[in-house]
Amino acid sequence: MAGKKIIITGVPGVGKTTVITQAMESLSEAGVPYQNINFGSFMFEVACAEGLAQDRDQMRRLDRTIQKRLQKLAAEKIAAIDGNVIIDTHASVKTPAGYLAGLPEWVLTALMPDTIVLVETDDDQILLRRLSDTSRVRDMEGAASIREHQQMNRSFAAAYAMLTGCTVAFVTNADHLLEHGVKALVTILK
Ligand code: AMP
Ligand code: MG
Repeated sequence: MAGKKIIITGVPGVGKTTVITQAMESLSEAGVPYQNINFGSFMFEVACAEGLAQDRDQMRRLDRTIQKRLQKLAAEKIAAIDGNVIIDTHASVKTPAGYLAGLPEWVLTALMPDTIVLVETDDDQILLRRLSDTSRVRDMEGAASIREHQQMNRSFAAAYAMLTGCTVAFVTNADHLLEHGVKALVTILK
């Protein structure tokens, strides 16, 4: 039987991966195991093998035709995975040429998600998290620009729901309230 497919999105630095990791622990204890699939890692595997990028943060600056090819290849591989899956990805990617849909029609219909989750918090909190994260090459942008990106992601998510009939859910990952975000995500995934 086909499992649940949940797409989890959020702007870089919102703490998506942290919320997902903790929610998965709690779900596996509750006997609802999920496989966590990182969309960017599937793209990076090909990008790296082809010498297109040395780290994952370089990919959003590649030519958009190349990004879309990597995106399509990743979607095809991920679509073939069975069971309950969480797909850690982006509703939109901020590129030098504008917002690139993370889930254009050919990606969405390959994946056919049950739910799209947007992990969000205040833009100024995201700004500070990016400044303190030395493990990644995060884009330096102001709070207004982060707010715009979060708003765009809601618009993209609405379009994705129209195309697939999936539900759209919000999870807030506010400072000092990680456990609330985790609990909200667990409820959605159960
Ligand atoms: P992440 O580790 O989630 O920040 O993802 C790393 C990179 O993978 C992003 O900056 C994007 O360049 C790329 N990526 C992830 N998901 C998608 C997607 N659905 N469409 C296009 N690029 C993506
Ligand atoms: Mg991440």
